[in-house]
Amino acid sequence: MCYPCPVAPRAVEKSLLDKVWDAHTVRELPSGQTQLFVGLHLIHEVTSPQAFAMLREMGLKVRFPQRTFATVDHIIPTHSQKRPLADELAEGMMQALERSTAESGIRLFDAASGHQGIVHVIGPELGLTQPGMTIACGDSHTSTHGAFGALAFGIGTSQVRDVLATQCLTLTRPKVRRIEVGGKLATGVFAKDVILAIIRKLGVNGGIGFAYEYAGPVLEAMSIEERLTVCNMSIEGGARCGYVNPDDITFSYLRGREFAPQDAAWDRAVAWWRGIASDPGAHYADRVALDGAAIAPSVTWGIHPGQNLGVDERLPRIDAAALEDRPSLEEAYAYMGLRPGEPIAGTPIDVAFIGSCTNGRISDLREAARVARTGHVARGVRALVVPGSQAVAREAVQEGLPEIFRAAGFEWREPGCSMCLAMNPDKLVGRELCASSSNRNFKGRQGSPTGRTLLMSPAMVAAAALRGAVADVREIL
Ligand code: SF4
Repeated sequence: MCYPCPVAPRAVEKSLLDKVWDAHTVRELPSGQTQLFVGLHLIHEVTSPQAFAMLREMGLKVRFPQRTFATVDHIIPTHSQKRPLADELAEGMMQALERSTAESGIRLFDAASGHQGIVHVIGPELGLTQPGMTIACGDSHTSTHGAFGALAFGIGTSQVRDVLATQCLTLTRPKVRRIEVGGKLATGVFAKDVILAIIRKLGVNGGIGFAYEYAGPVLEAMSIEERLTVCNMSIEGGARCGYVNPDDITFSYLRGREFAPQDAAWDRAVAWWRGIASDPGAHYADRVALDGAAIAPSVTWGIHPGQNLGVDERLPRIDAAALEDRPSLEEAYAYMGLRPGEPIAGTPIDVAFIGSCTNGRISDLREAARVARTGHVARGVRALVVPGSQAVAREAVQEGLPEIFRAAGFEWREPGCSMCLAMNPDKLVGRELCASSSNRNFKGRQGSPTGRTLLMSPAMVAAAALRGAVADVREIL
């Protein structure tokens, strides 16, 4: 990777979005959009096969193979990853990715590499994700990488093709909304609760046309892994991307990682990274403030992430809602089978899933293990722990986490997306209700057309697994 010179003093104070956008602009298009150079392209087995096929049909080659990295995550089973995979379709997708990356000279992190994992987990942990970058990936939750102060965009299959062929994307510059979370989080309240509170306040469509800049004392105190959780769900609030300005926490996380700059290049990079943080006088299209101390452990109850509430609250009454909101509440209650006015705590669950690109990192597993070691999974509950990557799994093994989870009755699995999207054998069955640390609670998201999802933090999922019902993790911690 190479870095532009440190940013020179400017007359106009700018946000990180404007600085990084300007630094990567190839040209402004007559449409008003920007042709933007993409510093890092991450691909996986699901959205890349058609893109490579289109490239072949057009007789084009990958323009910058050294800026593209691949992994397998969505379809890979978590019971056993022995080849050939039992599912012929999954095996075919694996082989297609292996063939395409080998032909194009793209580095593939497969199961044999020791670095395989969910694309949004391995990018950061390998040091591929860096501040000031533009990043694209054929997955909605690419916003995750904004935790480093990068502009990271989820893209569709035809855009994957475009980036492979040109290393550029055509995008509309979003406005920037600065979201400041003040105060200090209480015990039992995590990054997942912060982003759920933000989406509850602003709505699932509130971020359309915006990039979210997360700031304030709560974000400044967060580790990179916690910031990754917050940025991951920017897309669930409708934002095009989300980011946190890079700081010493960012730099110390990156230092020494395999793809991070080394020696003199490190010093040059840090100077550039410091310069791309938003200026104190930067203009924002909107500003929003939340009190972190007022955030409770949160749980979704409906069919999108905005339908969430504190674990000590009661489900919303339809007759108390605005007229225009009632149809979506009625639809959510009809699907979820829950009753308005009842407490969410105590809702029985069938499945507990700890993992995904939102909450499958080592710090997530540590928090869940802290809860798991206090008891045993309730009778009749199926509980899975799926590390986000092979590196996370190795670290967990060193810390003895699999033994803690197994002793408590959880299954310990191989890395992958698992039951987040269920494009692999990990699926809900029928109307099962799942306490999940993932990011989407849409109808049928976890593999069963009638399956139901309650999103919450990994510690809350562990608490629900032990109690067999939605529980307040603060009572355990
Ligand atoms: S864990 Fe879920 S959201 Fe994340 S990349 Fe995999 S399927 Fe997508």
